[in-house]
Amino acid sequence: MHLSRFPRLRFAHLPTPLEPLSRLSEVLGGPTIWIKRDDCTGLAGGGNKTRKLEFLMADAVEKGADTIITQGATQTNHGRQTAAIAAKLGLECHVLLEDRTASEDPDYVLNGNVLLDQLFEAKLTTYPGGTDMNAAMEAVAETLRAEGKKPYIVPGGGSNAIGALGYANCALELVSQANDQGLKIDHLVTATGSAGTQAGLVTGLCAINSQIPLLGIGVRVPQQQQEDNVFALAEKTCALLGIEGVVKRSDVQANCDYVGDGYGIPAESTLEAISLFARYEGILLDPVYSGKGAAGLVGLIRSGTFRKDENIVFLHTGGAQALPGYREVFGFDSSIK
Ligand SMILES: *Cc1c(COP(=O)(O)O)cnc(C)c1O
Repeated sequence: MHLSRFPRLRFAHLPTPLEPLSRLSEVLGGPTIWIKRDDCTGLAGGGNKTRKLEFLMADAVEKGADTIITQGATQTNHGRQTAAIAAKLGLECHVLLEDRTASEDPDYVLNGNVLLDQLFEAKLTTYPGGTDMNAAMEAVAETLRAEGKKPYIVPGGGSNAIGALGYANCALELVSQANDQGLKIDHLVTATGSAGTQAGLVTGLCAINSQIPLLGIGVRVPQQQQEDNVFALAEKTCALLGIEGVVKRSDVQANCDYVGDGYGIPAESTLEAISLFARYEGILLDPVYSGKGAAGLVGLIRSGTFRKDENIVFLHTGGAQALPGYREVFGFDSSIK
C-alpha cells in the first residue's frame, strides 16, 4: 500500500495527537482509554472529513473542476469542511442539505455548522428527508454544466474509495504512533456513518496486518446494513489500492445499539457520553456521531466487553461545531445571571 501514488493536497494538521484519557479511564474503572484526536485536523474546526478531502479535492483539481457539489444532513460536518476547503481553493461550493430530523428549532436550522457554511459562502439549498440526494446532486451538476461550469460531485460524507484513502493513511499513522510510544492497541473504536472512515481504517489496518480489531459504532442504519456498506466500500478501496482480498468480511464489525430514535437525534446515552468527556477530560463530542460512538465505548466498557489490562483507542471524529445547533437538547438553565 503506497499512498503517494494518489493525488493529494496537504492541508490537514497531521499527525493528530494520540493521548491517554486517564481521568475517564479511572472513572469508568475499566481498560485504559486513549484518544486519537481527529477532531483536531485543523480545517475549520477539524473533523474526520478533512483527511478524505485531501484526496477528493486533489482529484477535483486534477479534473479541472471549478465548482464542488456535496450533500449531507442540515448539521453536516462534512459540508462545513468541504465548504471551508473550497473557499481556500477558490472553488464555488454547493451544499445540499437534507432535512433528516424535521426539527424546526432555529438553532438546529440556522446555527452550528449552518452558520459556518454561510461564513464560507457555500450555496445552501434544503431538501425534504428521504430525497434521493445523489439524484439531487446530479440535477444541480446538470444545471451548472449548462451554465458552462465544471462541477465535481463529492459524495455524502466524502465516502467513496478516493475519500477512504484518507483513513487508510490514518491507520498507518496511528499504528506508527503507537509503535513509537510503545503502546499496544487492543481495540480501536469509532463512530461509523457513511462508512468511509471505517472502510479506510479497516483497509489500512489489514494491509499492514496490524491485527488490531476495529469496531464501528453505528449512528443510523441497523448492524447488518452498516457492516455490508463498510465492507462494500473497503473492497472498492482495496481495489483502488491494488490489494484486493486483504479485508475479510469478518474484519468489519459494527455495533448499532446506540443509535437511539434515529440519525441526528441524541439518545440519553449520547448526552451522558458528551457530559463524561467534557466533565472529566475537557473534550467536546457531538450529539450526532462522536457522542454516539463514545456512548458505545462507555456502554461496552460497563458491560465488561474489554479486559482491565487492555488499551482501547477511541478515534474522535470531531463534530463539536454542531453543538450550538443542539442547545435545546441539553436542557441547561437558561436563566443564568
Ligand atoms: C461524518 C462523521 C462521522 C462518520 O464518518 P463516516 O466516514 O461518514 O462513517 C463521524 N463523526 C463525525 C463527527 C462526522 O462528521
